[in-house]
Amino acid sequence: MPWCEPCAKYFAPTSLTTEGCCPKCGAPIAQFDVNGNIRDSPVTARSLDLKAIARSAGEEEKAPWHFKLLVASLVVYLIWRFASLFI
Ligand SMILES: [Zn+2]
Repeated sequence: MPWCEPCAKYFAPTSLTTEGCCPKCGAPIAQFDVNGNIRDSPVTARSLDLKAIARSAGEEEKAPWHFKLLVASLVVYLIWRFASLFI
């Protein structure tokens, strides 16, 4: 998330100028990755690779156990409701 230190404000990557600067004060905005390291090139609307972000996030994500329990409970409930039509 681009952070402008003089304005003390976060900006969306698409709201930056085409050079990756702050739209209000014009200061170049330092970019940090998820580990807190400064990136060499700023993230702008042109350099943002959403497919790479989606690929890396999707590999590590798993459905939590309580979501699976909820889906299994819903299936059992719907089977019971369907069976109760004929009982
Ligand atoms: Zn600014």
